[in-house]
Amino acid sequence: MRVYISFGSNIGDREQQINEALNKLQQVRDTELVTVSSLYETAPVGGVIQDDFLNGAAIVETSLTPIDFLNEIQRIELELGRERKVHWGPRTIDLDVLLMDDYIIEHERLNVPHPYMHERSFVLIPLAEIAPEAVHPILNKSIKELVTVDPEVRRYK
Ligand code: AMP
Repeated sequence: MRVYISFGSNIGDREQQINEALNKLQQVRDTELVTVSSLYETAPVGGVIQDDFLNGAAIVETSLTPIDFLNEIQRIELELGRERKVHWGPRTIDLDVLLMDDYIIEHERLNVPHPYMHERSFVLIPLAEIAPEAVHPILNKSIKELVTVDPEVRRYK
């Protein structure tokens, strides 16, 4: 299946942590990293005072099951020493599954499409760069149709 993910970091060397996470993703069994977006710098949402995020999106091909793939990205988050003391607070690396083919998954550990993806421009802007024609299977709209201009999401690299 084709998996669309988003990633973000706002502690320490953000770019380095993102690169490390992508390297680890590339080494996951039965999985291939297909495309990575540019990086975008974005102001945090959720009201917690914290540093700006670097965000991006990637396309992955995998033959793992959805839960096995989730296990792998959660392992990568743990290995990169993610600490989450505050809900919606700072994190070294955050990896989220956005879409998995056109599957709709409602599982206690995995909701796909990601429940907030369509309302977050820091997710939609990088995703639109690499997958404008991907379709949100609940809203039946493409990423190109869902994305809106947001000056708070600035192209970084
Ligand atoms: P977060 O702190 O936002 O990364 O959320 C992590 C929790 O969300 C974990 O317990 C996951 O099992 C759960 N989760 C549910 N749906 C997803 C998804 N689409 N991508 C990543 N984590 C998810």
